[in-house]
Amino acid sequence: MDKIVSLAKRRGFIYPGSEIYGGLKGTWDYGPLGSELKFNIKQEWWKTMVKDRDDVVGMSASILMNPKVWEASGHIAGFSDPLIECKTCHQRFKADQKDVIAEHEGWHKERKEKIDWTEEKQFNLMVEAKLGVVEGEKETVYLRGEITQGVHVNFKNVLNSSRLKIPFGIAQIGKAFRNEITPGNFTYRSIEFEQMELQYYVKPDEKESMKHYEFWKNFRMDWYKSLGINPDNLRFREHKKDELAHYAKVAWDIEYNAPFGWKECEGIHHRGDWDLSQHQKFSGQDMFYFDEETKEKYIPWVIETSGGVDRAALFFLIDAYSEEEDPAKNGASRIVLKLNPKLAPYKAAVFPLLANKPELVKLARNIYDDLRKDFAVAWDDRGNIGKRYYSQDEIGTPYCITVDFDSLEQGDVTVRDRDTMKQERIKITELNKFLNEKLS
Ligand code: ATP
Repeated sequence: MDKIVSLAKRRGFIYPGSEIYGGLKGTWDYGPLGSELKFNIKQEWWKTMVKDRDDVVGMSASILMNPKVWEASGHIAGFSDPLIECKTCHQRFKADQKDVIAEHEGWHKERKEKIDWTEEKQFNLMVEAKLGVVEGEKETVYLRGEITQGVHVNFKNVLNSSRLKIPFGIAQIGKAFRNEITPGNFTYRSIEFEQMELQYYVKPDEKESMKHYEFWKNFRMDWYKSLGINPDNLRFREHKKDELAHYAKVAWDIEYNAPFGWKECEGIHHRGDWDLSQHQKFSGQDMFYFDEETKEKYIPWVIETSGGVDRAALFFLIDAYSEEEDPAKNGASRIVLKLNPKLAPYKAAVFPLLANKPELVKLARNIYDDLRKDFAVAWDDRGNIGKRYYSQDEIGTPYCITVDFDSLEQGDVTVRDRDTMKQERIKITELNKFLNEKLS
């Protein structure tokens, strides 16, 4: 993890939030490469979940919502974690994090300090904000604790403004905020994070809803695998009855084998009719669906797939990280991010072999400008070619294109593959096609 955190900062993936002021615990800023990575993850998700399907549409709801939404959804009453506080140093811990608690006890014991805990208390995770201009009349609102509710409150709007029929889904990507008690493990548990979610509305029928549930559970697992995560590092875990969230009938997590243990990456939840029924009750608005064919009227059930963009980015980074020996360099080691090219911040890097040869620089620059119209491409003309390769390997650039003297004569370039380190000559006019094929 230390290596990944340091690479992330050094190369511009992820920095600690507001670092020059000493930071703000549990917040992170994404640099030039991190933003590209996150953007690519979201784009792939949107493509698979929305664009490629005719039963799913997208939407984008406000972060701030009428506080009644959160009463209805149960977040004000039920979105809490049981906490215990160390009476010696007043630090608080999630009561179910036995390993962290044991570690803390060990820390005090080492210092020969007494260790004693308070009773468990409930701690609400919603982050509050104040709205209004008149002091004393400000209204308390909440930064959404999950992006889910923005979709459910718009169920009727989407239904009435589209031609969708059940089963159908509404997908959304956006920020959520939680007053996490123990943020940590780099971006894994943050205060502010992004979620990518599908709310899939189905008939209220046990057998049929479970059929959809199984479909989405496997579909989501396949998505991570298709983008290159080693299948051995992924597994499903079912929530036990006492861990189920207040809304869930059935829940499985997709977990990733992180350096800090098997950790949740995404949750697949059978939410039943909880959300729509609650919003019907609290808003007084009808949330029924009318089936034109069967003439049935019902409140649909919901199958949810809820993943974190930041957790996905972190797990893609961890999984892609490798240290290898380069036989061409007498076994010197290189760091390679073996990111799927679709996720890699840059798809290619263009180098003139020598920076002091204007004719090479000019041709390389033309290639760079041309490719940039269609792909995220890096430029590097510093140092020797070997160093430039290593520098691109470390950020996961799948192809390095070098313009040399033969290029001037023959109109071709050397393309070096990040993973195999093999080099091939490709016609300059074929480069666009080459990259397109590799990315498709
Ligand atoms: P955990 O048990 O790890 O707190 P959760 O079960 O509360 O997670 P959900 O409410 O199911 O998580 O949220 C769905 C997804 O949102 C999670 O699978 C995760 O990817 C992401 N997520 C939730 N909380 C955080 C957080 N504090 N920081 C980063 N991502 C988060």
